[in-house]
Amino acid sequence: MRVLLTGGSGFIGSHIALLLLEKGYDVLILDSFVNSSSKAINAIKAYLENKNLNYDLQTISGDIRDKKLLDKIFIDAAKKSNPIQAVLHLAGLKSVSDSLVNPLHYWDVNVCGTQNLLATMNENECYSIVFSSSATIYGLTDSVPISEDHKISPINPYGKTKVAIENMFYDLYRSNMKSWKICSLRYFNPVGAHPSGLIGEDPIGIPNNLFPYITQVAIGRRKFLNVFGDDWDTIDGSGVRDYIHIMDLSEGHINAIDYLCSKKSCFEIINLGSGKGYSVFQIISQFEQSTGSQIPFSIQCRRDGDVARCYADISKAKKFLGWTPKRSLEQICLDGWKWQRKNPNGYS
Ligand code: NAD
Ligand code: UDP
Repeated sequence: MRVLLTGGSGFIGSHIALLLLEKGYDVLILDSFVNSSSKAINAIKAYLENKNLNYDLQTISGDIRDKKLLDKIFIDAAKKSNPIQAVLHLAGLKSVSDSLVNPLHYWDVNVCGTQNLLATMNENECYSIVFSSSATIYGLTDSVPISEDHKISPINPYGKTKVAIENMFYDLYRSNMKSWKICSLRYFNPVGAHPSGLIGEDPIGIPNNLFPYITQVAIGRRKFLNVFGDDWDTIDGSGVRDYIHIMDLSEGHINAIDYLCSKKSCFEIINLGSGKGYSVFQIISQFEQSTGSQIPFSIQCRRDGDVARCYADISKAKKFLGWTPKRSLEQICLDGWKWQRKNPNGYS
């Protein structure tokens, strides 16, 4: 089965690509490389070749907003008698702070790009899509665990684009309920790396997120970690989040495709998280214990837009996708550290 993976060179996409190829899917990656390196694709190929696995991977450098290119991709695949049967749509912009500065750009890439993709899928009678949504759309809530029917209340343009896309999916599904199969996955905090240490997260500039910041402190690229608040109403005063191993998250996508294949039509929104909450201090302590590194830190004031705690109710994923996360926080630390140690400067 051939699938189109948009954003397949990015952090999450590269891990999903590798898993799809290992499972025998033919994968066509479309990525503009605006926030990723083609070295991630080379690393995927090297890993598969080292394992002597046959694979069918095609990479196209381009933008999801380029309608002519999308048309060509679908038509060429059909001509080769290997049409695209499903799309995993990850391409998009994801920085909350950047979205506050450049909102129109976020609406253009995320929303118009997705509209473009859906229009092309519709014209080419490809009706199956798995989408990367985000827990950020639940907004400033403290009521945990968060289930899918929790109020939607995004507080930044990035989150608003994810909501707009989910609404677009719903309208499209309602317009043709016999055909469309749509699964929007709301990710919590994907972290860690492939256990080979060959692919992982490589943020451009100063990491916004906790886990890559910690690995960069451990490798010596940053002097210390700023802890944003030790006065939250949590177990130890630091913020609590749901960290999910990137390979668990990737496996969730395989289950989501299987789920779509088993249905005549559907529209589902499903949380993907570990279902557990860990504080910043617990993450530091587990990382130090698992890796033997020291993570110096400095307490700062709370970060704007943060909440005390956020973690997922993952019962819907278990029930609908037959999926449960398998990897521990220790595994997350070990795999994330292996990637950072093997690649101190990421892909560069
Ligand atoms: P990433 O930036 O590493 O990957 C996104 C990829 O999309 C990049 O390779 C980038 O080059 C590509 N891209 C961006 N704009 C494009 C365009 N116009 N056309 C084609 N390609 C384009 O991010 P990621 O962490 O791998 O996230 C993947 C998806 O998951 C995103 O949609 C993101 O919003 C969503 N998500 C991520 C997280 C997270 O914590 N990483 C959490 C929730 C949701
Ligand atoms: N955090 C921190 N220092 C950092 C980055 C994050 O203390 O350099 C905290 C943040 O305040 C939150 C947790 O770590 O409590 C997770 O933050 P991240 O940005 O990784 O995820 P999000 O808050 O978007 O879920």
